Amino acid sequence: MHKTTIAALAASTLLCAGAAMAQQQVDWDKVQIKTTDLGNKTYMLEGQGGNITVAVGTDGIIMVDTQFAPLSEKIKAAIKAISPLPIKYIINTHFHGDHTGGNANFQKDGATVIAQDNIRIRLLAGTTNGTTGNKTQPVSGDAIPKETYIGGVKTIEVGGRKAELHHVYNAHTDGDTWVYFPDANVICTGDVMNNRHRYQQVDFANGGDIRGMIRATNDWLKLANDNTKVVVGHGPLANKASVAEYNAMVKTARERVEKLVNEGKSEAEVVAAKPLADLDKTWADNDQAAANFVKQVYNSFKRS
Ligand SMILES: [Zn+2]
Repeated sequence: MHKTTIAALAASTLLCAGAAMAQQQVDWDKVQIKTTDLGNKTYMLEGQGGNITVAVGTDGIIMVDTQFAPLSEKIKAAIKAISPLPIKYIINTHFHGDHTGGNANFQKDGATVIAQDNIRIRLLAGTTNGTTGNKTQPVSGDAIPKETYIGGVKTIEVGGRKAELHHVYNAHTDGDTWVYFPDANVICTGDVMNNRHRYQQVDFANGGDIRGMIRATNDWLKLANDNTKVVVGHGPLANKASVAEYNAMVKTARERVEKLVNEGKSEAEVVAAKPLADLDKTWADNDQAAANFVKQVYNSFKRS
């Protein structure tokens, strides 16, 4: 048995995975990695933490996100069962520990982690979550992406496979990348979206902004067709209809909260007004989760 409290590992990630996990202990020995074949040698891996995507080329593998460090051996075994080829590139969708915790274990094997540059900066400096106050300690060495990019679209390739990295500025954080595998018609959203019918954290203290979540989801709706497979940060495989539903929610949240911000209301007044009360029934676990999301949307407009 080796157990670790999730809070001790990656405090700032709690809201990614839902407040209900805050008090849970993870027994890593019991976590199983589930592999789902998305077609065209592309796979979704679920374990504990952010969903992983694996794309196999003729001479190597592209992987998206690395979950928690204690799961790296299990994840490597699951990938070996798909292909014996080496993992050449790993993309980090954002800095939170449930998506980057395994970086060092994979880079030590020779993989190159690629990320938007703000991930490097935040991992090196350590972070504080604006909603919970929880701190994430700085990391260094192989835990840091070896290669970064600033903005726009970056393309990486292994034999016969291509991944498009799209930076969406200020969305879940200020370092988000969503990934598109055109030949497999797969979009990987990172934590800009979940498929659990839950509000998604806007990590406003680390550059998050509800308006970026809207921009990204708008882009996915333009890109996707009815066959597109959407690997979200947390939750089961999604599709264009799931994106449309989530897009409508984030747009409504933005409109209602921004109106109150423009009227000069304080954070406390906006939370007390419960502007998303009708949505809470569908999207919030409890009153605290509902209030947290309103606070996060409010602070999207107050980020310094
Ligand atoms: Zn996250």
